Amino acid sequence: MQIFGTTKLLGVIGDPVKHSFSPLMHNAAIAELGTDYVYLAFPISANNLKTALDGFRAIDLKGFSITIPHKQSIMAHLEAIAPEAQMVGAVNTVWQTETGWQGTNTDVAGFIAPLKALDKDWSTVSPVILGNGGAARAVVVGCHQLGCPQIHVIGRNPEKLTTFAKSWQGTPLEQKLQTHLWGDLNRLIPTTKFLVNSTPVGMHPNIDASPVSAELMKLLSSDSIAYDLIYTPSPTQFLQLAQNQGATIFDGLEMLVQQGAIALEKWLAQPVPVATMRQALLEHLAQKTKA
Ligand code: NAP
Repeated sequence: MQIFGTTKLLGVIGDPVKHSFSPLMHNAAIAELGTDYVYLAFPISANNLKTALDGFRAIDLKGFSITIPHKQSIMAHLEAIAPEAQMVGAVNTVWQTETGWQGTNTDVAGFIAPLKALDKDWSTVSPVILGNGGAARAVVVGCHQLGCPQIHVIGRNPEKLTTFAKSWQGTPLEQKLQTHLWGDLNRLIPTTKFLVNSTPVGMHPNIDASPVSAELMKLLSSDSIAYDLIYTPSPTQFLQLAQNQGATIFDGLEMLVQQGAIALEKWLAQPVPVATMRQALLEHLAQKTKA
């Protein structure tokens, strides 16, 4: 990739942001397209968010990704927010318009992308989602978009679970969503065909951990789908246990790739080489695992 006087800027903001895979993935695609852009990581602290946005406008930065801790606080600075980002309550992608910044949440489309490829009827599938953090919100909206009739969310903290449930009031999810404590899992697993892990349990380096025990996983029916948002290791212990039951499994890599590809398409206003983005990530993760 060459940088010229004309090169346009994209980036990711977060604090910290130095571990982000986004520069690697986006610059691989930009290089393949031969388009005059570069994507950089910008460490921005919470109290510098407004200053950073003013600066981005001044230097004509075309768009950016948002990671922790700005996914919610950025919303107050945007001129327009896409409905699915409003529902999730978080924005991960922003682009510049004549009148100001606009934002959306591409995690939702990223999450459902590999599921849509199954061409499955979701109207009889009621997922069980483990965890009620930020990623679970995108999973809930994704399951709603797929057409799932009921959505069960499992959390370990009753207060956080109540806040989570209340946050959907006044949305179409209010009627569909049921929250449960982990003790309900043995009752719920046999009833579901779609089990999603949106907790960090089992993520590298804790690769022997699983949010669902081997014993409980035996309750999962063989025609189920298990989806882990974690992408290292692949497969996680959770996915291995589900696969032992005969379930179809998905790890979080495709979600990561697709949410990035959707954002890059928005900024560049052209199709992007998704396979190149996926390959760049896979090679980097393989190197990291070896190190
Ligand atoms: P988060 O906001 O911190 O939420 C984590 C959730 O997991 C919380 O509900 C937390 O419960 C629960 N949890 C944590 N440790 C637990 C444990 N030992 N037992 C039971 N529950 C536990 O994190 P997040 O942003 O939602 O991310 C969650 C996972 O998804 C991470 O592994 C992240 O890497 C992955 N992710 C992947 C993608 C992708 O593109 N593939 C995108 C986003 C996130 P409390 O609130 O009670 O602590």
